[in-house]
Formats: sequence, C-alpha cells, structure tokens
Amino acid sequence: MKIIPYSRQWVDSSDIREVIKVLKSDWLTQGPKIKEFEDALCKYTGVKYAVAVSSGTAALHISCLAADIKRGDEVITSPITFVASANSILYCGGTPVFADIQKDTVNIDTEEIKKKINPNTKVIIPVHFAGQPCNMSDIKKIAKENRLYVIEDAAHAIGSRYSDGSTVGNCRYSDMTIFSFHPVKTITTGEGGAITTNDKMLYEKLIMLRSHGITKNQMLLTKNPGPWYYEIQMLGFNYRITDIQAALGLSQLSKLDCFVKRRREIVSEYNKAFSDISWIRVPFEEKNVYSAFHLYTALIDFEKLGLSRPQVMEKLKNNGIGTQVHYIPVYTQPYYKNNFNYKDGLCPIAEEYYKYALSLPLHPSMGKKQVNYVISVVKALNNN
Ligand SMILES: *Cc1c(COP(=O)(O)O)cnc(C)c1O
Repeated sequence: MKIIPYSRQWVDSSDIREVIKVLKSDWLTQGPKIKEFEDALCKYTGVKYAVAVSSGTAALHISCLAADIKRGDEVITSPITFVASANSILYCGGTPVFADIQKDTVNIDTEEIKKKINPNTKVIIPVHFAGQPCNMSDIKKIAKENRLYVIEDAAHAIGSRYSDGSTVGNCRYSDMTIFSFHPVKTITTGEGGAITTNDKMLYEKLIMLRSHGITKNQMLLTKNPGPWYYEIQMLGFNYRITDIQAALGLSQLSKLDCFVKRRREIVSEYNKAFSDISWIRVPFEEKNVYSAFHLYTALIDFEKLGLSRPQVMEKLKNNGIGTQVHYIPVYTQPYYKNNFNYKDGLCPIAEEYYKYALSLPLHPSMGKKQVNYVISVVKALNNN
C-alpha cells in the first residue's frame, strides 16, 4: 500500500525544467542562480539580505557564530523543536537554556524567557512551531532591554505572517531569521536553507562563514597585492548551496503562496471534521497571525480514545496513513541528559504537550479524496 506521509515535497515539471537548465549551464555551484534565489527570498520576505546555504542546520550554525556565541554564553530556546535548533548552540560551545512553551500555541512562552535571563544570556532563538509566529514584539522588547541577539528559527514558517501582517523573515523583530528547504518543509531544494538579515555586518560575516571564512571583498581585505588575493578572516565551513538547488528553490518559491493556501484549506477541512470529537484537540491558531502550517499536530487524548499512541500510529499506518510526533522535548534526549545534566520536569508544559501530540498528513499535493480518507480513518479509530 502507498503511504500518505505526514509531509512531502511537491515537485512538478516546471521545477524539473529549471533544474535541467542549470545542469546544462556553465555553473553547477557558485554561479548566478544562488544570488537570484537570494534576491527572490529578499523580495518575498521584504528583508535586505539573504544568504542561501546547504541546510537549515548550517543556517542555524553560522547564525549562532555570527551572533558570536562562545563557551559560557547561554542561549534561550524552545524544548519543542527539531534538535538542530539546540545543537547549533552546542556547536559554538554555548549552553542551551530551555524556556517552557505556551500550552495553546506550543511556542516559547515570553514570561518563561524572562525568568531564564541572567548576565550570561546572549541570544534568544524562538521557533515558530508548525508555522505559527511566536510573540515577536514581546521577544524583541525583552531582547532590547537585555541587549540580546534574536535568531528566529523559521524552518516551519516560510510563507507565514506576523500579527502585524508582515512576512516572516523580514527581520523586523530579530537580527537574523533562518529557513530550511528540506523536502518535508513548505518549499524544498532537496537539502538547503537560508538566513535573512537587515544588518550588513552580519551579512558579510555570514557570507564568509558559508565558505571557509574566505573573503575577496576589497572593503574587508587588510591589504590587496593583486587579483588572486583572498583572506581567511575567521574559521568558516563549506556550507554552500549549489546552483542546481537554487534553481529548484526559485521555482518552488514562485509557488509558495499557492502551497500555503492549499495547506490552510486542508487544515480547515480537518478542523471542521475533528472539532466535535471529544478525544481530539485541533491545532490552535492565534487571531491575526497567518500560519503557513508546516504541520497539522493534533492533540489526542489516547486514554479517552482507549488506544495508546503506538497503537494509533500502527493502525493508521496499516491504513496507509503516515504520522509523526513533533517533538520529543530536546533536553530529554540522552545526549543532552548525559552531558549537560538537564532533568525531567524542566519544562512541565512541554512534557505534558508531548504526551498528546500526533502530526497527521499535511501537504499541498493532497487532494480532496485523500483528505477525506484521512478524516474517515481517524474518526473510525474509536470503533474498536
Ligand atoms: C527542519 C528544521 C531544522 C533543520 O533544517 P535542516 O534543513 O533539516 O537542516 C531546524 N529547525 C527546525 C525547527 C526544523 O524543523
């Protein structure tokens, strides 16, 4: 049986044509498509600068470096996120500090952020869970009062809008915003990611960090003996994206608004169908925000339903429906517990949320028939 996965890409013939054009061109990497993709991201989000990189994780890593996170620095983030948000802090020698979530939005709670701030705090990394923007005006205020950097993890939120109606990624409330273009995300480049910023200094730093720490920018060189000359001014990486990927990204970006519209239609179909079921709580969307809905994470009262989560996942899988749990609280992972002494109970609301979460299939290529099929199978779960 073909499984309807919890998420997947939608690549069509126009995407494929754009990729083939690059394959036939002179530049497979470090060519013009990358800048074109970056310019398109700037235009879409309304930001000044964009740096496309090899993954969302690479984007997080070099953002943390650009924010100068070092040993001894504390970085506040959400426990309900993909591990990359916190791992990036560790890559730089910093200490992740987990602030509990808000029960309804599943986003980091600004009151909890305030409680975690001390003289070692350097950065806040809010994560826009499932596409719903965090309360960024409060986060910006807290950051300003305490002189902290803000890096938005918007891996779920390309195409989302804040409560002021502006587009996520415009960095109105932050120093940098990162995106991921993994195939489960809203648009894809295979693997890929990007950072947006309005700060020219951060931009120059990110460009260097993406490619070994090398610069050829005459404004930045300490001397200039000739056209061959370049300098390594910091320790960077090879986190470059290819032109092949950038071409796919450009083509996908032109369809982003349609993808989001279709995602939101499916969400409202699900919400309508599940709203009268006592053992399902549908995802909460705050007034005034516009979520791109990377995920449809239902909260299921497994006890009331009379089935455990593994039993539900198994039953759905046997009916061709893929599901996933987003996410296991990061600090409960063995690596985190063993090396950093995080204790169970650190973020009680996150731990409680984790007991109920189950993401159902949501991707724009799902047709009406597939959506109705998922609804009917889920509704029939309690007919045992
Ligand atoms: C997917 C994801 C990332 C990492 O992106 P990759 O492109 O897979 O490296 C980071 N943060 C969050 C919240 C994500 O969902």
